[in-house]
Amino acid sequence: MKLPKELKDKSDLGGSAKNRECSIQGCGEVAIRSLSENAWKNYVENSGLKYNKNSRHKIYLCKIHYSQSNKYRKSQEKNFQKKGFLDDSIAVRKGKWDF
Ligand SMILES: [Zn+2]
Repeated sequence: MKLPKELKDKSDLGGSAKNRECSIQGCGEVAIRSLSENAWKNYVENSGLKYNKNSRHKIYLCKIHYSQSNKYRKSQEKNFQKKGFLDDSIAVRKGKWDF
């Protein structure tokens, strides 16, 4: 777990590949999650958020926007589980930093 150290070292923000900004329009906080656009697009948009797309097909979320989208995802996941529709939720759990 080296994230807290990186967060402390804010002087290194200029052009660093490690520190990513939240993709939500108008936010600009440091992202804590890098998520697959395919898996999370609907959750983010249905939470009432708009995000900036990028060429990697990733959505970067700060703590606040991640928990907001995650709250919506969990409410959906419950419905999916009832229907036995699990594929999406498995893909979502893999949504961690992967570079
Ligand atoms: Zn944000």
